[in-house]
Parts: sequence; structure tokens; C-alpha cells
Amino acid sequence: MTDRTTVFKDREKQTTKFQGREISRQMEFNRFTLAFPAESEKSFQTKYFHNSLNHFRVSFILVTFLYGIFGLLDQLVAKQFENFFHLIRYQIVIPLLIVVFLFSFSRYFIRIWQKLIFICVIVGGAGVAVMCVKAPENSIYFAGLMLIFSAGYFFVKLRFLMATIAGWVVLTFFNVAMVFFSDVKSEMIISYNFFFVSANLIGMLGAYYIEFYTRKDFFLNEQLDLRNAIIEDANKNLESKVAKRTEELLVAKNQAEQSDKLKSTFLANMSHEIRTPLNSIIGFAELVVDPYFSPEQHTEFAQLISNNGNSLLSVISNIMDISKIEAGQLELSSRRFSLNKLISSVINEFSLIAIKKGIELRTGYPDQMEEIVIETDEAKLRQILVNLIENAIKFTESGYVEIGIQETENSLLFFVRDTGIGISEENRDAIFKRFRQVETAFTRKYGGNGLGLAISKSLVEFLGGTVWLESEEGKGSTFSFTIPKG
Ligand code: ADP
Repeated sequence: MTDRTTVFKDREKQTTKFQGREISRQMEFNRFTLAFPAESEKSFQTKYFHNSLNHFRVSFILVTFLYGIFGLLDQLVAKQFENFFHLIRYQIVIPLLIVVFLFSFSRYFIRIWQKLIFICVIVGGAGVAVMCVKAPENSIYFAGLMLIFSAGYFFVKLRFLMATIAGWVVLTFFNVAMVFFSDVKSEMIISYNFFFVSANLIGMLGAYYIEFYTRKDFFLNEQLDLRNAIIEDANKNLESKVAKRTEELLVAKNQAEQSDKLKSTFLANMSHEIRTPLNSIIGFAELVVDPYFSPEQHTEFAQLISNNGNSLLSVISNIMDISKIEAGQLELSSRRFSLNKLISSVINEFSLIAIKKGIELRTGYPDQMEEIVIETDEAKLRQILVNLIENAIKFTESGYVEIGIQETENSLLFFVRDTGIGISEENRDAIFKRFRQVETAFTRKYGGNGLGLAISKSLVEFLGGTVWLESEEGKGSTFSFTIPKG
């Protein structure tokens, strides 16, 4: 939709606009000239022209015919002026009427048609006025002038204002000619004027009302069109709104179905993750008190119970973390602390495991690195690093695990690089999702529940950073993430 169309209300003017056109109950027009405000006037005139063109042509044919046929009267009642009157009729007025009639077939006619009709009325009227002056004793010429007035006001489609001017110009011309070029008594001239002034006044009033109602009709039609357009537009809006809502509902429905599926998978996975260590704990707890086994075996069982207990604890805390993240209940407890201290403490935590596995645990920055102080949630940053380093050691059989930091103006970039088994390209996005592990065979070998990276990703994002991975299968992986400095 339009650049969406709006219905705009102007409180002061009490009008409403739609697509730039005004919707109003009241017709705005100039009471004297009957003209509409600019834009409407233009379209009214165009419409008026097209509606009037045929009528105009018919009226001009008839008027031309009458102006010609009345020439017969000249012969009957004004024989001495016949030639002169015929000159007026057949060499001035009728040729003019015919030219204008023919010009009505040109596309330029619309521009000057009112002016041309105006000229025709004046010339035709002046012609008859001259006849009146020349043959004042013949009242038929005075009747002819009345015909000119009525044709000018009502017949030839001249608009009110132009018809009025033409009417009074002809009357003035008649009076001037009568006074200066005839010996008709002034009482007679006055009595003629009684008729002609009345004819002009009646003509003016009639033409005014005819044009007023033509304009009213135009205005009402315009308003009707406008209101229809508003209704159409509203319907279109409604249709597109309904389509949009339906689409949104479909998306929401799909999301709900997907999240339902994810929940079921989550529950199935969880029950598996909890049951496995729990079954081992219960099983070995029974064996640990069984006198059938040797004390060495009992110690081994106790160790297994402890390992499974730890694994259960880690599953449960991972689940707690995931639920908190999902429920949006993570709380940020930022404070300023020394990053160097945090990294050394994390490295200390893993040094023993690394030594046991025969892997070098090293830092990718000089030992005497300047102290970096940042403001963020230390516990969460620690959890991210612990998860990544734990994985790196877990999935590396030989070589090293390196922890690095790079400082930029506003953020810190951390990376954990290993020379482990690497991750194939198709698994690189998936492993950041919950319960995604590369291979079940490996999982069995390496253990884990597929929650660590999902939690780490959420925590990095919660702290305002991003996490990504570069890896080559069989050669190693580098997990990197950024954190704003605070
Ligand atoms: P978990 O390690 O408990 O299975 P994670 O979400 O931490 O769960 O990791 C998901 C999977 O991503 C792992 O099971 C493993 O397949 C893969 N992965 C994670 N870190 C590494 C790494 N450093 N090298 C190789 N594979 C890794």
C-alpha cells in the first residue's frame, strides 16, 4: 500500500485528507465567480468541457442555422438594409460561428473554448444590436436580441461569469449605439432597457443556479469517489493485515511446535543423562557392601561412585544453568578485577589434569604481561574459560592447549587453542546447540552431555560478546570469544 495512505484530519479546518485530496461535507467555492479552490477548479473545468462538448456543438449548429435563416426576415421587414444586414450575418457572424464550431474538433479547443464562445456571443449580439439601431421601427430585431441573451446565458454552454460579462457588454454596446447612432427617443430606449436588463438579470440568476448545481453535482461525485477510494483502501489494508497476521500466526505455530519437539528431546536426553550415572551409583553402592569382592575392588567401586556422582553433579548444574538462561533469569554481577589473576587460577585448576594426560598447558602471552583490569561478571567469564579449556584437554591426546588474550580498545579477545581431534565443517555450528556432540562413539570415549558449549555461547552473548570457532579435523581447534572491557 502506499507508502501507506492515511486519512489525515485537519482539526482547525474541520477537513480530512486522503491521498492529498480533501474530504469535506461543505462545498468550498467563491460565491461571486462560483470557482472552486485551485486544484478542484482545474478538474471541474476539464470535466465540464468533456460533458459539454456535444451539447455545445449541437447548440452552435442550431444557433448558426437560426442566425442564417433569420436573414429571410431582413428581406421582408428591412429591405433597405438587406445587404448590410446580410453582410453582418453571412460574412461576419456565421463564418465566425462556423470557424469556432470546426475548431471544436481540435485538441487545443479545451484551452480557449469559453473565450471563443464569449466572443461569439458578443459579436452575434453586437450584430443584432446594430440591426436594432439601423431599423428601430422593426421590433423583431429587439426580439432577436432577447434570443441572443437567452442563448448566451442558457444554451451555448458559456459559464455564468463569462455569460454575464457578455450579456452586459452586448447591452452596453446596444445602448451606446442607440444613443449615438439612432434618433430613437430616450423614452423608447428606456423601455427597451426594461426588457433587456430584466432579461440579463433573469439570465444571470438562471445561469448562476444552473452552474451552481452542476458544480454541486461534480463536488458530490468527487466526494463519493473519494469515499469509495477510502473504503477500497481500508479493505486492502485489512486484507494485507489479515495476511500478515496469518503469516505471523503460522510462524508462531511452527516455533511452538519446534520448541515442543526440543522440549521432548531435552527431557529424553536429560532422563538418559541422569539415569546413567545414577544407575552406576546405585549398582556400585550395592557392590561396595558385597563381601564377595576384595577390598581393592571395593576401593575401585567407591572411586566409580565418586566419579559418577561428580558427573551427575555437573549434569545437574548444567541443567540449572540452561534453565536459568532459557527463563531469562541470568543476573549480571559485574565488578572490576584483575584478568591475569583469573587466568592463572583457571590454569592452575587444570595443570594437574594436563600433566596427567601429557599435554602442555600454555599461555599465548608473555609471563610478565601488564596487568589487565576489566569490569564484567567474573564468575561467568570463568565458567566460559573452564568449559572451553576442559573440552580442549578432553579432546586432545597429545600436543598442547594454549590460552591467549588480545586486547583492543574496547574489548578483549580470548582464545583456547588445542592440537586435538578437530571438528569437521558440518559440525561447527551444531556443537553450539544443546546436546549436540560430534559422534556418539567419541562421546562414549570422551564423556560429556553436550551442554557446555551451548551454555558458554549464551554466557558470552549475555556478557555482550560473540563466540566462534576455527578448526581443522585431525589437527586441532581454536575457540575464540570477545568480551567488552566494561
Ligand atoms: P560435551 O563436551 O559435554 O559433550 P559441549 O557442548 O562442551 O558438550 O561440546 C559439544 C561437542 O563439541 C563435544 O561433544 C565435541 O564433540 C565437540 N567439541 C567441543 N570442544 C571440542 C574441541 N576442543 N575439540 C574437538 N571437539 C570438540
